[in-house]
This record gives sequence, C-alpha cells and structure tokens, in this order.
Amino acid sequence: MKFIGAHVSAAGGVFNAPANALEIGANAFALFTKNQRQWKSKPLTEKEITAFREALKDSGISPEQVLPHDSYLINLGNPDPEKRQKSLDAFVDELHRVEQLGLSLLNFHPGSGLNEVDEDECLKLIADSMNQAMERTGSAVLVIENTSGQGSAVGYRFEHLARLIELVDTKERVGVCLDTCHAFAAGYDFRSPEAYGKTMSDFDDTVGFSRLKGMHLNDAKSAFGSRVDRHASLGEGNIGWEGFRNIMRDPRTDGIPLILETIEPERWAEEIRTLRSFAESDSGRNS
Ligand SMILES: [Zn+2]
Ligand SMILES: [Zn+2]
Repeated sequence: MKFIGAHVSAAGGVFNAPANALEIGANAFALFTKNQRQWKSKPLTEKEITAFREALKDSGISPEQVLPHDSYLINLGNPDPEKRQKSLDAFVDELHRVEQLGLSLLNFHPGSGLNEVDEDECLKLIADSMNQAMERTGSAVLVIENTSGQGSAVGYRFEHLARLIELVDTKERVGVCLDTCHAFAAGYDFRSPEAYGKTMSDFDDTVGFSRLKGMHLNDAKSAFGSRVDRHASLGEGNIGWEGFRNIMRDPRTDGIPLILETIEPERWAEEIRTLRSFAESDSGRNS
C-alpha cells in the first residue's frame, strides 16, 4: 500500500498537522515540530503532546507514516566545534520532540563542510554527531536525506549515505529518505523505466532498500546533474509525470511515507490523487 502526503503546516501547534493532512487526502505527512528557522523553541507542553497524539489517532494516520523534518539551521558536519555542538544540541532537542510525540523518525540533511574540510572529513563529523545524538536519546530513527550537492553539502552521492551508515554505531537507528529533486539534480535519473531501474538498483547496491524509510516526491526546476535544489510541482519540472509513475509502480516504495514538498500547496490534493491513480492502475494491471 502507498502512503502519500505532504509537508503540511503545523501553524498554531503541532496538533493541527494531522487535520491538515486529511484535508488533502493524505495518509502520511511531514511536519516541523518547532520553528524551522530558529535555534530555540519552547519545549512542547503536556497539553500539546496529548493534543497531537489524539489528533493523530483520530486521523487514522499511523505514527510510522509521519516523517518530521529538522530545522534548516542544523549542520551536524560544521567543522567549527562550537557551532557543531550547537547543532548537535538542537538536533537532540528535535529527537526528544519526536519521541515525546510518539513518532519514530527524524528526517535531516546531513550537513556541509563549508569548504573547510574535505567530504570524507565532513562525513566523519556528521557520523560522530549522529552517534552522540543516539547516545542522548531513546529510539527514534535518524533518517538521512540525500542532497542536491549544492554548495559544500555532502550527501549527494549514494556512497555518502552508505559511508554515514558504515560509520554509525547503532545501525538499527539509521535510515534514508530519498528526495527525487535532489537526486535528479545530483545526476540520478527517474524519467524512463530503464533510467529509474538503474537509479534504484544503484541505490539498492550502495545503500540498500531496507534503509529506505521515506521519500520526498518533488519535481525539479533545476536541470539534471546541475546540483541546484529547486523544487517544482509534479509534472511541471524536468523529471515529469513519467518519473513519478515509475516510483508509484514500484512495490519497493510501499509502506513508507511518500511526501510532497512541492511549491504549490493548493495543488497537493490533486497531486496525491494523480499519484494514487498511478499506483492503482498498476495493481489492476498486475492482478
Ligand atoms: Zn526533501
Ligand atoms: Zn530540496
């Protein structure tokens, strides 16, 4: 079964997110559990936590289909030890929030070496931060998102994701989120069934499908291989509907949150309907 949703608003409180997901016909969603552009936010109150848990239960969306996203400020690979510590503390706070809300995943961008350290050094710093974060928290899974490779960001090659997994001590607490726009901008194609098959077998050989805990379904305004991160509405970018049809026809994307971060929220309901129609026509064809 496909679980499809979007990164919905949590304005007014995290407990508003499940209803925002239902409104667009989603059975999965992403959210920020705090203001994503600030370092510090007030801790979640008991009241907010209870309200979220109840709203989620009422929505019928299971906690495994919720993919919280961390703050954009966090850089676990920052070469400056003080700044890296600040990021680590904020990341631990995000993991605590996830656990308080009864969720199991936290999606994050691995980080950037800021042109001060090479990529492998940066990956080592990130893995060290991940190990420390795991020691300070309970059981939430750290879900590494692949990047477009803009600037000095690491994580744009599947090999980078594999390297992080290799360097992490508690492997059962590490997963991967595959963002289609980022992958496309980094030179992984989805457009034809053949190209899609190659990208996904690369992914399976390097990272392994068992690590895939979610996907971000975004079309790309950016060109193939450009290493520029610009999302587009589905069908409006350089990947095109055919790419998303390939994803929806793949049984390996069953059971995980498939999240739109496309740029026109007013189109999310329609995008979700179209994605579902691809999945359904396929199961009809095979049965
Ligand atoms: Zn993303
Ligand atoms: Zn992006």
